[in-house]
Amino acid sequence: MQIPFLDLKSQYLSIKTEINSAIQDVLDNSAFVLGKAVNDFESEFAKVHDMKYCVALNSGTAGNHVALWSLGIKPGDEVIIPANTFIATAWGAILCGAKPIFVDCDPDSYNLDPLKVEKAITSKTKAIVAVHLYGQPADMDPLKKIADEYKINLVEDSAQSHIAEYKGKKIGGFGVATSFSFYPGKNLGAYGEGGALVTNDSEIAKKAKMIRDHGTLEKYQHEIFGHNYRMEGIQGAVLGVKLKYLSNWTFERRKVAVKYKELLSTNSNIKLPKEMPYAKHVYHLFVVQVTGNGRNENSELRDKLAGYLKDKGIATGYHYPIPLHLQKCFQYLGYKKGDFVNTELLANSCLSLPIYPELENNQIEFVCSNINNFFNHVA
Ligand SMILES: *Cc1c(COP(=O)(O)O)cnc(C)c1O
Repeated sequence: MQIPFLDLKSQYLSIKTEINSAIQDVLDNSAFVLGKAVNDFESEFAKVHDMKYCVALNSGTAGNHVALWSLGIKPGDEVIIPANTFIATAWGAILCGAKPIFVDCDPDSYNLDPLKVEKAITSKTKAIVAVHLYGQPADMDPLKKIADEYKINLVEDSAQSHIAEYKGKKIGGFGVATSFSFYPGKNLGAYGEGGALVTNDSEIAKKAKMIRDHGTLEKYQHEIFGHNYRMEGIQGAVLGVKLKYLSNWTFERRKVAVKYKELLSTNSNIKLPKEMPYAKHVYHLFVVQVTGNGRNENSELRDKLAGYLKDKGIATGYHYPIPLHLQKCFQYLGYKKGDFVNTELLANSCLSLPIYPELENNQIEFVCSNINNFFNHVA
């Protein structure tokens, strides 16, 4: 049996007629950049998150940048970023000329540890970027309390957590601005690049709109510096169709996660992802830690399991194998191995199993029986 890490094709086939006709509309109207399909999507996307404004962009990275740019983050400022995230979270600060300050993750949620965030604050700290990684919201109440106390901006990177919930409320409104990615493999994926910023703050929404379109609200009147971060019409049309299915697809992802947990619960070599009591996890990724019955400090066992699964036709991933503070591009910041133990342990032991709404029970069973076999007979 072949089990790919992602299966975008079967999802497309299930909505092909609707998608094709939505794309045809864009072609018929030559609305290639922004336009009606994008406007409509913005309204709907804001609505499903109970937010006032959505500004559609052409990537999640643009969202990370625009969030901090519209808050006035500039050279000399420090921005707190999780060491455990995809690197695009850090580009937001870097593109504003600011200095990223990395902070370790909590060993259960894999998101920012609020106690460690507070310790990292200096007089230069201007923002905290809380990432809702793998589909699980970060612990926003303590982060908000810290941000308020020190008068620092709190923003959210929700590239992996569309419609996830924190204490029963959709993510998006806990910080002042939240970025999303619609990269094809994300829970809500375009058929190309895409992203968005959502906010309840009218000033931020206005600035974000200007920044994405060369600093203008009206053509050729460049009030502020900007960029070209506009969403394409075809992506708006695709996302508008797919958004209607997101809640169902999320339900299916959660079912896959439940099944994985059931079938792997007795395997003491694997630490399963934990849904925190405050969170409704949307399982963008199903990340287990290959612990090998203890605290496994190197990646050997994990790599061996991944190789074994690959031989059986099962694709897996590592999210993420090298923490941000150990990336070559951030060498100049002076971090070293051992600075963030939880993140580093995770980098060496993390293994992402295939998860998508279309994954069938017999496929999940195949993955799990191979994992269990590996520890019973191979490892
Ligand atoms: C995917 C991702 C991004 C970047 O999104 P793009 O649309 O690929 O630019 C940012 N942050 C996180 C956490 C991501 O997973």
